[in-house]
Amino acid sequence: MFDVIVIGAGPAGVVAALRAADLGANTALITRDEFGGMAANDGPIPVRTLAHAARLIREARQLGLYGITVSEPVFEYSRLLARVREVVNDVRAHSAFRRQIDSLKVTVYERAGAARFADPYTIETESELRLQAEKIIICTGGVSRRLSVPGFELTATHSDAWALTSVPPSMLVIGAGATGAQVASIFNAFGSRVQLFQAGPRILPTEDEDVSAAVAAAFRESGIVVRENFGGIESFEKTPSGVRMIFSKDGARDSAEAALAIVAVGWVANTAGLNLAAAGVETNQRSFVRVDAYLRTSAPHIFAAGDITGSLMLVPQAIQDGFVAATNAVRGATMTLGDQVSPIGSFTEPEYAQVGMTEAKAREKHDVATAIVCFDSTTRTIIDGRTAGFCKLIVDRATYKILGCHVVGERAVEITQVAAIAIAAGMRVDELAQVPLSFPTYAGILGRVAGSATRQLNLKVSWQANQAENS
Ligand SMILES: Cc1cc2nc3c(=O)[nH]c(=O)nc-3n(C[C@H](O)[C@H](O)[C@H](O)COP(=O)(O)OP(=O)(O)OC[C@H]3O[C@@H](n4cnc5c(N)ncnc54)[C@H](O)[C@@H]3O)c2cc1C
Repeated sequence: MFDVIVIGAGPAGVVAALRAADLGANTALITRDEFGGMAANDGPIPVRTLAHAARLIREARQLGLYGITVSEPVFEYSRLLARVREVVNDVRAHSAFRRQIDSLKVTVYERAGAARFADPYTIETESELRLQAEKIIICTGGVSRRLSVPGFELTATHSDAWALTSVPPSMLVIGAGATGAQVASIFNAFGSRVQLFQAGPRILPTEDEDVSAAVAAAFRESGIVVRENFGGIESFEKTPSGVRMIFSKDGARDSAEAALAIVAVGWVANTAGLNLAAAGVETNQRSFVRVDAYLRTSAPHIFAAGDITGSLMLVPQAIQDGFVAATNAVRGATMTLGDQVSPIGSFTEPEYAQVGMTEAKAREKHDVATAIVCFDSTTRTIIDGRTAGFCKLIVDRATYKILGCHVVGERAVEITQVAAIAIAAGMRVDELAQVPLSFPTYAGILGRVAGSATRQLNLKVSWQANQAENS
């Protein structure tokens, strides 16, 4: 009998197992597939590698601007996929987590097949393991949402896209959240003719409206056909060269065809097959595992962490969840997640990122000031020929605290990390304006935009730190 069994070895499960073992619990980690979960094998790492290839293609096209002459790049998708596999293996081989798990003597059952509850304290796997523990932590992540429309089996998911042997000549991407936007942007760079469909009025619906508008405009300019408010899907049909999507809006039928249709319409909890009912674990209205502030499920000795709970569904949050769930599983309910500053970003062209509240959300509860600085007015972006984009800061007029930062453009994701630290530290905008940031850098735009908000709010600063950017 173990003290703790963790099911799933993604970021949530690995950290949960590490933490439980570190607190002295005799811990087992069971996973259906490879160690590392989606983050290592099917999510950020493969996607980021493909996005890097897309970036290299774009950068190669810029060489002439800097007096470097080379022949037009020749792109081989199969070689890129070999590189993706190499990167995934390399990251896995260098995983500090794996070494720590081994040194803390966690019993790891890798590639054990799907696990399920036999009763509230017993887990069985397809590989015929039968293990018992006093506490169990469910970290089985999520899966791509399926649609109940005829012909859905003719469509693919982002995971299938990575398994292609060649770049399809054309592609329908249905769903323009973070995953759909990345697939569309990457395959557009690789030469596919991409049509991106969004049921709602704007792509990237959880981003600030200015970000959605700027990314949609940039996508269109780069040749992606973006169709917002496209209506409802009726069916998918096979065509001689691929697949056709039939959809209708306000009674009018329409269709679109391509070699491949990728559906990315959301992420749902991976609970199928876990037999949660046998353990008394309930799900919420969105079908994610219901947890309280301590990440306890409806069965008090069973915890859940990561995507399975339907929270932010990102690696840093999964890691934090795993830590909290394991702490509470071993020590009793003592730790909650607390307020999290969660920067979110995506490696599309152009990149976009956010931290804190969108302007619309901030206006619901605060009197706000907003400041925007465009990339075409900062030194580093001009040097690098990356002048498309902006940085927007949202500030509370009452407290001068930074409520949100939204960036579109080169290195947007990195810029928001700096803003996240300012927000987490509770800095006032005039304090941020006085931090001397290196010149000329992408992050320097934060000093500019903070200076602009400070002037708007008639705040006095003892000196203007980012003079170079303003000159
Ligand atoms: C295309 C894409 C790109 C992404 N990009 C980013 C990004 O750039 N940055 C970021 O922070 N996040 C990104 N994410 C999200 C991120 O990958 C997830 O939030 C994170 O992996 C969740 O971790 P997890 O541990 O909850 O679940 P997962 O990583 O999904 O791990 C689940 C684990 O459970 C195992 N498992 C499942 N069912 C069973 C079962 N029945 N029995 C035993 N084991 C089981 C699986 O084998 C796996 O090991 C991306 C996701 C996708 C799809």
